[in-house]
Amino acid sequence: MTGILFPYLALFGLSVAVRFILDRLNVRHLEAHGHEVPSVFSGEIEPATLKRIRDYTVARTRLGDWEDLFQSALVLAVLFGGLIPWLARLLEGWQLGMIPSGIMFFFGIGIIMGVAGIPFDLYRTFGIERRFGFSTITFKLWLADFLKATLISAILSGILLAALFALIGAATKTWWLWMWIFYAGFQLLMTVLYPLVIAPLFNKFEPLSDPLITGGVMSLMDKAGLKAKGVYRVDALKRSRHSNAYFTGLGRSRRIVLFDSLLDSHAPDEILAVLAHEIGHWKKGHVRMQLVGVLLLSLAVLYGAYLMINWPVLYDSFGIAYRTPYVGLLLLGFLMQPVAFFLSPLAGMVSRAFERQADDFARTLTGQSEPLIKALKRLSTDNLSNLHPHPVYAWFYYTHPPLVARIERLKRA
Ligand SMILES: [Zn+2]
Repeated sequence: MTGILFPYLALFGLSVAVRFILDRLNVRHLEAHGHEVPSVFSGEIEPATLKRIRDYTVARTRLGDWEDLFQSALVLAVLFGGLIPWLARLLEGWQLGMIPSGIMFFFGIGIIMGVAGIPFDLYRTFGIERRFGFSTITFKLWLADFLKATLISAILSGILLAALFALIGAATKTWWLWMWIFYAGFQLLMTVLYPLVIAPLFNKFEPLSDPLITGGVMSLMDKAGLKAKGVYRVDALKRSRHSNAYFTGLGRSRRIVLFDSLLDSHAPDEILAVLAHEIGHWKKGHVRMQLVGVLLLSLAVLYGAYLMINWPVLYDSFGIAYRTPYVGLLLLGFLMQPVAFFLSPLAGMVSRAFERQADDFARTLTGQSEPLIKALKRLSTDNLSNLHPHPVYAWFYYTHPPLVARIERLKRA
C-alpha cells in the first residue's frame, strides 16, 4: 500500500521542477534583455554595470540551483534512508518521555539539515558576495553569527516544541487550539522583543544623529503624526555593503532601521524618501497585518496536523512503524514543504501590495516622487538588483514589485 506516497512524490518532484524552470526562465530572460537599458534609467546606467548585474544574478542562481538539488536529495534521503525509524527507536530505548524525546528527535533532524546548508552559505558569503565586492564579514564574525543564531533558534524552537508535546500529551482532542493560543502569544511577544533583545545581539543600533537629516526626519515623522523617535542607524557594513532599510516591531518596539551603507551612499533627500516609505509601512500597520496573516495560517496548519497525526496512512505511506506524535509531525512537516512552496506567491502578492501602498504614502507625505525614484535607482545599482526579471519569476518570488515597475508607477502619479 502506498497511500499518499505517490501524490507526495509527484508534488515534491513538481516543486523541484518548477523552481528549476523558473530559474532557467529568469536567467534566459536576463541573457536576452540584460544589456538593454530600461527607459526609466536612460543615460544613467553603464553597460559595465548591466554586465555585473547579469553575472551576479547568474552566479547566485547557479549556486541556488545546486543548493536546492542537494537539499531536495537530502529530504528524500532522510525520508527513505531509514534515519527516522532508527532515531525514533534509539530515543524510545532511552525512555525519556515524550517531551525530551520529541525535542531531541527534531533537533537531530534539524542538525543534519542545518549542517548540510553550511558549505553553501560559506560559498555564498566568501565566494560570490566577496567576488562582487559586497561581503565585508570576517570568518570570525561569520562563526560568531552562526553560533549565536543556532543557539537562539535552539532555545526558541525548544520552547515551542516543549509546549507542543506537553499539550499533545495533556489534551488529545483540543491540543491544536491550546497550541495555537500559546503560539499566538509567543509570536506577539517575539514581534515586540525581536528588535529590543535579539537584533542587538548581532548589530549595534543607534538613534539617527546626523544633523543634516535629523531635522528632516523630525518634520516627516511629525507630518505623519508619529512621535519623532524610533529611527535607527545600524552597523550593517561590518558584514556586507548591501544597503537597505526596514520597519520592524510592534507597540513600543516599533522602529525604522536604516543601514549605515544606505546612509553613507545616499543624498539627504533620498534618505528622507526611503524613510517616508518606511513610515508608510508603519502608518498602514503592515507588520500588524502580516502577524494576523501568520496567525490565521498557523491555526489552519495546527488543525490540519491534529486531523492527520493519528491517521495510519500517514505512517504506512512512508513505511514507518513508529506512530509517535513527533514522527507524525516531522512527516507532516515534510508533506507541507511543497504545499507551502506553491502557496508562497500569495504572500508575495500581499507583500507587493504593501510595498505599493508604502511607495504611494511616501509620495504623498513628501509631496514629490523624484527623491524616492533617485533612491530606488541608487539602491538597485548599488545592490546589483536584476532590472530584467522574468514576469512569472517576479510574480512567484518577489516581495517587492520589480524595480522598473515601481519607478514607472511613481512617475505616472
Ligand atoms: Zn517597503
